[in-house]
Amino acid sequence: MSHIFCVANQKGGVGKTTTTVNLAAGLARQGQRVLLVDLDPQGNATMGSGVDKRELPLSVYDVLMGEASVAEAAVVAPACGYQVLGANRELAGAEIELVSLPQRDRRLKAALAQAAADYDFVLVDCPPSLSILTLNGLCAAHGVVVPMQCEYFALEGVTDLLHTITQVRANLNPDLQIIGLLRVMFDPRTTLQQQVSEQLQAHFGDKVFQTVIPRNVRLAEAPSHGLPGVVFDPAAKGSQAFVDFAREMMARVGVVVPAKGKARKPM
Ligand code: ADP
Ligand code: MG
Repeated sequence: MSHIFCVANQKGGVGKTTTTVNLAAGLARQGQRVLLVDLDPQGNATMGSGVDKRELPLSVYDVLMGEASVAEAAVVAPACGYQVLGANRELAGAEIELVSLPQRDRRLKAALAQAAADYDFVLVDCPPSLSILTLNGLCAAHGVVVPMQCEYFALEGVTDLLHTITQVRANLNPDLQIIGLLRVMFDPRTTLQQQVSEQLQAHFGDKVFQTVIPRNVRLAEAPSHGLPGVVFDPAAKGSQAFVDFAREMMARVGVVVPAKGKARKPM
């Protein structure tokens, strides 16, 4: 059975997509079979995995509509070592079309259940809203990974998200866990960021991942090359942090972590 995680935060530009593609690539480098599901109509995770969103024969839209299976619609991300269930603008229409369909917030869950044996990890990149698309992600997932910047209002934003997760757990998916909070775009020279980081740890304890993702220009450049930073420039500080994060994630969910540099060849 696969571990299904949503990367979610209702704010835009906080590093969700960067986290999803780099965690996918990092897990693939550790020999894990990974599927990335792009639930954002912007298709950034699709493009950032080197898959052209304008040329998808089938996408997550067709899967949500019940017109294709995950196995039919997933494509290999060249050079990345994982598979992608891609998204494009067509997905924006799904928001409205889903309303009149049965089990409208459980359709991704149902589709992924058919593919559970094919992957060790399924990572869902959510849009920056609590839409029916995000609800499909949260219903399908075992856990949520929350990337966040250590800024002044960070704690408030996270409290809102945790409230949402509590509601989803009560009403839609009792199994949903918060896997952890990931500090991203971190600049250790900024006193405020250090203070917020300490507050986070004091407040959320070991729900805060030990790995910290630094602000790193190579991570920001990688999408324009259609690659996750981990693949584009594995030596960059940000890429190494994401590989460490992938290993921390595996340990956290009880998957055996290979010795450093001894990873199996990915799919
Ligand atoms: P979201 O998916 O939450 O909207 P993105 O992952 O697209 O956020 O990130 C927003 C912007 O910040 C992008 O331009 C991305 O390249 C940049 N970015 C994300 N993480 C980092 C980082 N660690 N260092 C530098 N730039 C980053
Ligand atoms: Mg995004």
